Amino acid sequence: MSNQVVVIGGGIMGSALAYWLTRLEPSVRVTVVERDPSYEYASSALSAASIRQQFSTPVNILISQASIAFLRNAADELGFDDERPDIMLREHGYLYLAGVGGAAQLRQAHTVQKACGSDVALLDRADLGKRFGWLNTSDLSLGSLGLSGEGWFDGYALLMAFARKARKQGARYVYADVCGFGIHGTRVADVILSDGSRISCSHVVNAAGPWARRIGAMAEVELPVFARRRTVYVVSCPAAMHPFPLLIDPTGFWIRPEGTKFIAGFSPADDWDDQPLEPDYEAFESRLWPALAHRIPAFEEAKLERAWAGYFEMNTFDHNAVLGPHPVLENFLFMNGFSGHGMQQAPVIGRAIAELILHGRFDTLDLSELLFSRIEEGRAVHEANVIG
Ligand SMILES: Cc1cc2nc3c(=O)[nH]c(=O)nc-3n(C[C@H](O)[C@H](O)[C@H](O)COP(=O)(O)OP(=O)(O)OC[C@H]3O[C@@H](n4cnc5c(N)ncnc54)[C@H](O)[C@@H]3O)c2cc1C
Repeated sequence: MSNQVVVIGGGIMGSALAYWLTRLEPSVRVTVVERDPSYEYASSALSAASIRQQFSTPVNILISQASIAFLRNAADELGFDDERPDIMLREHGYLYLAGVGGAAQLRQAHTVQKACGSDVALLDRADLGKRFGWLNTSDLSLGSLGLSGEGWFDGYALLMAFARKARKQGARYVYADVCGFGIHGTRVADVILSDGSRISCSHVVNAAGPWARRIGAMAEVELPVFARRRTVYVVSCPAAMHPFPLLIDPTGFWIRPEGTKFIAGFSPADDWDDQPLEPDYEAFESRLWPALAHRIPAFEEAKLERAWAGYFEMNTFDHNAVLGPHPVLENFLFMNGFSGHGMQQAPVIGRAIAELILHGRFDTLDLSELLFSRIEEGRAVHEANVIG
């Protein structure tokens, strides 16, 4: 039996795992198999890379607290020699808005967040108007603002920093397409590449993002993770608006500053699987712009500069991470299904899966409720605050 961990997918999840494995146990052999070194379609390269504390489930809030601590320290943690990666972390907060009828849900989430120690505040309509003069508050009932620990960063820079440091610590990256497994009893013995070669493994980890279901299927494992297209619109607006947190509108759209412009998106009505990654330009005119201009009147003057599309790796079972070993194939581990919040969770999930592999348990944060086994047991951990 090989003592090699094979990670399928070198996006933020696979690279964070490779980093943590080699950091916690320098003698471990790690091979990351990535089919596309350009990351052209990888979610990690197409992400809005924002981090929030405002979840509805305590486990996600605890992950975010640990993650923001890592991100604040990323230059030290991931730097080496003269390199100090700058992930451009900006802690400008999230602002969740509730319309008429939405206040109760916001208050409920607020209670959970406060109980977990999050730095969040509820703002009534008058407070919202005072703090954010550019906001149309006429049909709002309440807002919830993250006062610290929330914002955005350069997700691609974080991906590159994890991958570089993982390599520096001894992880090997192989550029190849995984197309199957050699399975002996309840163990995966080796990973089969499209050129027919095999890499033997002690553990294999599915870090294939939106393509994770296909990797599962290669071992006859059913994973409820689907590739759902999301368009990100880059918008410019002549008006100066400060401060401007990441805003979540009651209609479901989100918007945040990006440099001198803004990026925005929303959850499409026709949410089919595996749509081609072409931006939905029509929806900007018909859906997003009217909603934007209603909430922020200055956006009447907005201009669509460009757009891109990427896949959310949507877990349709409960919109939460699916982690750890398969209940039957004991050395096949999963880090999938993040449903739009994987970039911010990667530093913590990478460590958690490394701990499972190296020590057989979660050491720093107990993520047992997110284990794969919950799916077979029908034990959902529903996350209500899924964006887009
Ligand atoms: C538009 C958009 C906005 C987002 N905004 C946010 C946000 O604000 N905050 C947040 O936290 N998250 C956000 N996300 C989600 C986040 O980006 C993802 O959860 C995260 O990037 C998933 O990382 P991953 O490594 O699992 O997947 P990926 O980055 O997709 O990496 C998977 C890798 O696996 C490789 N692969 C697949 N199949 C094979 C195979 N057979 N053989 C070899 N390699 C294979 C792929 O090439 C790919 O590089 C957003 C996502 C999108 C698309």
